[in-house]
Amino acid sequence: MTATTPKETLSFQTEVQQLLHLMIHSLYSNKEIFLRELISNASDALDKLRFEALSDDALYENDGELKIWVSVDKTARTITVKDNGIGMTRTEVIDNIGTIAKSGTKEFVKSLTGDQAKDSHLIGQFGVGFYSVFIVADQVSLTTRRAGLGQEHGVKWSATGTGSYEIEVVEKQLRGTEIIIHLKEEGSEFLDDFRLRSIIHKYSEHIAFPIVMREYQSEEDEKKGTPTKDEVVNKATALWVRSKNDISESEYQEFYKHISHDFEEPLVYLHSRVEGANEYTLLLYVPKHAPFDLWERERRQGVKLYVRRVFILDDSDKLLPHYLRFIKGVIDSNDLPLNVSREILQQNKLMETIRSGSVRKILDLLGQLAKNETQKYATFWQVFGQVLKEGIVEDNANRERIAKLLRFSSTQGEGSAQTVTLEDYISRMQPEQDKIYYITGDSYGAAANSPHLELLKHKNIEVLILSDRIDEWVASHLLEFEGKKLQSVAKGAVDMEKLVDTDQKAELDKANSENQDLLKRIGDVLADKVKQVKVSARLTTSPACLVADEYDLGIHMERILKAAGQAAPASKPILEVNLKHPLLEKIKSENDELRFKDWSCVLYGQAVLSGGGQLEDPAGFVKQLNELMLIMSDRRIILPP
Ligand code: ADP
Ligand code: MG
Repeated sequence: MTATTPKETLSFQTEVQQLLHLMIHSLYSNKEIFLRELISNASDALDKLRFEALSDDALYENDGELKIWVSVDKTARTITVKDNGIGMTRTEVIDNIGTIAKSGTKEFVKSLTGDQAKDSHLIGQFGVGFYSVFIVADQVSLTTRRAGLGQEHGVKWSATGTGSYEIEVVEKQLRGTEIIIHLKEEGSEFLDDFRLRSIIHKYSEHIAFPIVMREYQSEEDEKKGTPTKDEVVNKATALWVRSKNDISESEYQEFYKHISHDFEEPLVYLHSRVEGANEYTLLLYVPKHAPFDLWERERRQGVKLYVRRVFILDDSDKLLPHYLRFIKGVIDSNDLPLNVSREILQQNKLMETIRSGSVRKILDLLGQLAKNETQKYATFWQVFGQVLKEGIVEDNANRERIAKLLRFSSTQGEGSAQTVTLEDYISRMQPEQDKIYYITGDSYGAAANSPHLELLKHKNIEVLILSDRIDEWVASHLLEFEGKKLQSVAKGAVDMEKLVDTDQKAELDKANSENQDLLKRIGDVLADKVKQVKVSARLTTSPACLVADEYDLGIHMERILKAAGQAAPASKPILEVNLKHPLLEKIKSENDELRFKDWSCVLYGQAVLSGGGQLEDPAGFVKQLNELMLIMSDRRIILPP
């Protein structure tokens, strides 16, 4: 292609059009962020150039001084943001500026709250920063040339924020990107050098490249627009390289906002230089609130990897384990090779140590927070607790450490609030107790009121209530804590039997043998549903409950697997009955075989329901129940089939 290629008009992708509409019509309460976003893109472009130039020095085109320029032209009503970074080819412009490849926009539009102030803060986090320029502009032109390509390969893109944009091939001498923003009336406040400087200080102070503005010698000069000399506005050093003592609290906070595009302050952070054979620096933050894509498979990664101040990548999930995906920040290694690629990262020994060192530091940080700032930790737990729990499953090596950070609701806690630690639990254990008991369920209410808890409540033994989606997995991986085994109260009979006194135990054995006939009779009716019927040690008030055999998967777990469409190994539960309950006396004395069958089925159905499960044939259950109720009320009516 040559400079004579005609101008083309192309349509924006539908999502982009929606987004532009939104920028123009709804998000005007925090206009200044457009500059932060453009500078952030320029800085990314410089990072990319420096990285690619590691293997191809020619990309510098004999100009290795990487910079960002910002200038104002009052007469023309324009602001120009320019960089000599990597630039874009024509295809890249179309792909990056005309389309949104990421699933971002839809999510963005969905999470808008209608509160402009909040919504405008979301822009940067959704990877749609470029378009924020239309908050202040009625016309934008972007001219760019990919580093390393000839000057004739420049590309000019321009748009007014409507449905289409124009694109043409032009000459461009300087590599990189120049964006000229024509301000609309509402954007006039930004035609002010001083205002732009203060925005740069606020958001872009710690961009590691110089941001250059013109300095005017006199007002006269400024009016005429004659530049005198260039001046670097920002600090332009990597913050994390500086010593902790030289960095103020607000600098840490601003840096966080810059790297995360967050509008709130972080909850807590750590800045640490690890010395020795493998040297690296960490500056890592825990946000106060969850990003919109915390649960998305394709998320933006929060941690950037640098090697000796050179940005390497930020899209690797190898830098930190998945369960720490909420962490934002920077890892800068002194020893990794500069040409490290995603593939190398996976097996690199140094990276492995950096990663495990970082994980340790983060877990320590959270541990300290839990110890010293309970309120903040509670916030953390509420926002990220479920994610951290994944660590129990994912990170064998740190399981005990993570377990200390877990918070549960419990039969002795404050309602459904997750505040109880495993250490609290152990300190409250009864003398005869040697296990940590827990119950799992779909909701706090279902689990907390389950009949499985009756004996334990009666004995004043605390039970942890696990009702988060991930809890079954957590429980199946967290087998013990500080030498105490974790035990589901809905599994196995042995443990419950241990908890009853010797007298009661003898009574239980006796009841089991004396009622062999009854148990077998019920068992025969329910043969395709349960593997055994037993007298229960754990029930004090309910008539029946279902328990899983010690080594079976667990009833709740099977339910979860089924719901997730996975094949769960079919294992029948055990039906435990409470012989002291009048319903069982009634069943025992029932001579009519058909009615005995109804009673048994209703007993089973109750056990399923009170354990938080779902009936396979709810209508059948209701019918049986109604028949029995009518018989009991002595008005025998034959219900239609
Ligand atoms: P994000 O920066 O989160 O990817 P943006 O909407 O800010 O989202 O930018 C979209 C894309 O446009 C960038 O990812 C980049 O590929 C490209 N881009 C924007 N500005 C520049 C620039 N100054 N130089 C090179 N590429 C750029
Ligand atoms: Mg951006």
